[in-house]
Amino acid sequence: MKVMKFGGTSVGSAERIKHVATLVEATEGKKFVVLSAVSGTTNVLVKITEHFRKNQVNEATIELAALKDSYQPLVDELFTSEDGKVKGYEIVDRYLGEIKKLITQPYYPQASKVIVVQGELISTNLFYTYLKEQGREVALVPAMDFMSLNQYGEPDMPVITERITGILKERKETTLVTQGFICRNISGGIDNLKRGGSDYSATLIGAAIQAEEVQIWTDIDGMHNNDPRVVEKTQPISKLSFEEAGELAYFGAKILHPNCIIPAQKNKVPVRIKNTMKPDAEGTLITSEQNPTAVKAIAAKDGITAIKIKSSRMIMAYGFMRKVFEVFEKYKTSIDMITTSEIAVSLTIDDPSHLSKIVEELKPYGTVEVDEQQTIICIVGDLVAEHKGVGREIFKALDEITLRMISYGGSRNNISILVDTKYKREALISLNDQLFDF
Ligand code: ADP
Ligand code: ASP
Ligand code: MG
Repeated sequence: MKVMKFGGTSVGSAERIKHVATLVEATEGKKFVVLSAVSGTTNVLVKITEHFRKNQVNEATIELAALKDSYQPLVDELFTSEDGKVKGYEIVDRYLGEIKKLITQPYYPQASKVIVVQGELISTNLFYTYLKEQGREVALVPAMDFMSLNQYGEPDMPVITERITGILKERKETTLVTQGFICRNISGGIDNLKRGGSDYSATLIGAAIQAEEVQIWTDIDGMHNNDPRVVEKTQPISKLSFEEAGELAYFGAKILHPNCIIPAQKNKVPVRIKNTMKPDAEGTLITSEQNPTAVKAIAAKDGITAIKIKSSRMIMAYGFMRKVFEVFEKYKTSIDMITTSEIAVSLTIDDPSHLSKIVEELKPYGTVEVDEQQTIICIVGDLVAEHKGVGREIFKALDEITLRMISYGGSRNNISILVDTKYKREALISLNDQLFDF
């Protein structure tokens, strides 16, 4: 069985949805189709939750009305029969109507969780109804029936596997359609897998059913060697290892959700990235195979905060690091990069929600300095010691840029460099010119 995930742009119009149906149809065997919301929808839903939280009911209602209007041409073009069109409009009305009811009530956080997932409910119901209208053998499987989080807010793999196995026993249709992004938390409430989470839904399903392959269909022909939103000359990479793809996803390559490689890697399920608009392009295949090219790609993760703790007295003292890490653990804040010297330790976090409390609790251990608006530039490849000279090339490229932290040797796949975000563009372009010859 294959898992086929289609992102927002891939289901962004009636024409695209029809094209997705053709791609699904052309794939042999049983398939589990995971859909994102129509592109732009989740952004609008997030805006609506912001207005709702600020008690701006009028603004929220205006956004909602515009969103509803944007579905009109899509529904109109997607369905050929009058009956199909009526069903299509009913779907949009039903899910956006849920939001309308919620925003007229006093704000409560759980309502926002319900609002942001309506986009995936709309896209999957429209797609399912379209396939039905076309006479296809298809079943709609609600993600809320199987995609569960555990008490730590992480996907609960044993529960997900058990539920999907049960569903697969019951559903004999060749095409199963489900929502990406949506899940239930430990209390049974509607929740989500964070922005871009449909990729994660796809690999979690792929791992649960031990899929032959997870296909991530998107708007670009695979993982590129650098961020195409910043650098002009980028190229797709035909093969990556799970480790390399995982590092790129975690360190900012938006094409994949930061955690989505983990379930595929654990269960050795190949992940293939394909371009919906150019299905014949090779794309990127991610497997456990290591491919000995020194530098494969560069990614950048913004919104990083660097924290330095300086203490000539304590840093070398037995147990000092443990005490520092315990502060971060207490506030459930994960650390990305670490560098140490005789008198100081610097580390980075991407979630500053508890920053002021963390800084207060670190103060007894030394002088604490905080730098915000930093970017981690991550150079990924098979960077084992045999590949001599990579470091020199990297530093040559970054000659004109102030470097805040450097981390090498943590894994064989990654060199991470922290720079002020204002240098990000320059650093990415310069590294691209120096490390790739195209
Ligand atoms: P989808 O809606 O299909 O999930 P996304 O917008 O989440 O698509 O991801 C695809 C986008 O990721 C591309 O259009 C591209 O702009 C961006 N991107 C960032 N880094 C990379 C990279 N290294 N390779 C390819 N695309 C990247
Ligand atoms: N629709 C969600 C988002 O925009 C999930 C996804 O597209 O992967 O973040
Ligand atoms: Mg995405």
